[in-house]
Amino acid sequence: MYDDNHLITRLRAASLGHETRNFATFPARASMTFGELFAGAERNAAALAGMGVQPGDRVAVQVDKSIEAIQLYLGTVMAGGVFLPLNTAYTTPEVAYFLGDATPRVVVCDPAREDEIAEVAGAARVVTLDAKGLGTLTDAVVGRGGFTPVPRGPDDLAAILYTSGTTGRSKGAMLSHANLASNSETLRDYWRFTDSDVLIHALPIFHTHGLFVATNVALLAGARVVFLKGFDADAILKAMPQATALMGVPTFYTRLLADPRLTKDRAANMRLFISGSAPLLVETHEQWEARTGHRILERYGMTETNMSTSNPYDGERRAGTVGFPLPGVEARVMHEGKEVPAGEIGVLEVRGTNVFQGYWQMPEKTAEELRPDGWFITGDMAMIDADGYVTIVGREKDLVITGGFNVYPKEVESLIDDLPGVLESAVIGVPHPDFGEGVVAVVVPEGEGTTPEAITAALEGKLARFKQPKRIFMIEALPRNTMGKVQKKALRDAYAGLFS
Ligand code: AMP
Repeated sequence: MYDDNHLITRLRAASLGHETRNFATFPARASMTFGELFAGAERNAAALAGMGVQPGDRVAVQVDKSIEAIQLYLGTVMAGGVFLPLNTAYTTPEVAYFLGDATPRVVVCDPAREDEIAEVAGAARVVTLDAKGLGTLTDAVVGRGGFTPVPRGPDDLAAILYTSGTTGRSKGAMLSHANLASNSETLRDYWRFTDSDVLIHALPIFHTHGLFVATNVALLAGARVVFLKGFDADAILKAMPQATALMGVPTFYTRLLADPRLTKDRAANMRLFISGSAPLLVETHEQWEARTGHRILERYGMTETNMSTSNPYDGERRAGTVGFPLPGVEARVMHEGKEVPAGEIGVLEVRGTNVFQGYWQMPEKTAEELRPDGWFITGDMAMIDADGYVTIVGREKDLVITGGFNVYPKEVESLIDDLPGVLESAVIGVPHPDFGEGVVAVVVPEGEGTTPEAITAALEGKLARFKQPKRIFMIEALPRNTMGKVQKKALRDAYAGLFS
């Protein structure tokens, strides 16, 4: 048996003895010390235990970002429970699927949706928490005393995060205490987070990036956090002179670049800008360095694996790459059952303590993606160059196969993005009667813009004919989800009938 709670013990270690230090600020709220954070988490744990949460029970949470929601996360893990955050954008029928699949003991939702969630919650107890930290959960938490965290070992589950499920049903990725603790410790050390850091946190906390990478790393380092409800250029720029680090998705950086208040002076106190969850354009990397003097550090990961690769802190941060496998993480690129040589493209596999325990109640899916010897098949196409830098070329399912030839969208997108008058682009495959799929480019113009004809002409001679887009469409903006990922499926659906 274990005599401590593996994750909580580690998340708490840095602030033990420093309980009066400030942990966080949140807009329009009093700041919170580490002592208050953990005391509140203990009260949450006591309240959840009072609602019958036993070790291993799921606590499903669909609430706005608040410091109380962070305490609920910590409290769930303290109570031995499994934290199950849900995107706030999910509708009640969508939530019904997750609740039916995960059968949580407790569901925490926004007060405005209590009745409709209660209808789909089955046997679960439904309590509420609003953006201000108020609700029936808070009523149950207030007045509770201290709580000794329930002992949990490294392999016990701490969280289930459902994948976005762009194809088929969403799958619940089971993450253990050791998966989360080890990865955050690695990142803290790799990115040199200490108790002198002040992290700007503008990410959602229902996703691995904001919940685990940002929050856990800050806690492990004893760093301070400036929580924002979401991306807010004003608030980020205002916080920057007192902050040291920002973790964001690429759209954070492009939106900040659009603001003239972003200057070298304003970023002078910052030591680190980190980007991930979607590819950062080389152009954004270069513009950021020219404006702020900082080279963005890009890293790569996914819900199932936590973070797998990162550009180095001291060495060269190579734009367009996601850096090296993190310490303790192995990476290889496979094609037709064999590891490919440096510089060749295949499917990226990773192995290490970071890799999840499998998909909740989906042993067949788990077996398809997680090999018995621990290698996880990420589904991302990638290349590892002779220096060891990993480049992500795109999701395997976004690969276009036209007339029997493979087209890697990123190769075409990079050429289009480099053209004058182009902001960005997405290349997709659309059903085609002769070729199986036809290459289609969807382009966002910049400034005066450009035309499909000009792009076609510019690609002539630069790309093999089969890779050249058969049709090019200009649109105002690419469809993106909250994590800044381009929704290629939405584009494929929109242009599905093009060649029929
Ligand atoms: P999620 O599970 O929602 O975090 O999505 C994970 C996926 O996001 C990965 O499998 C990649 O396809 C993509 N991704 C994450 N970070 C990067 C990055 N730095 N560059 C390119 N793609 C990324």
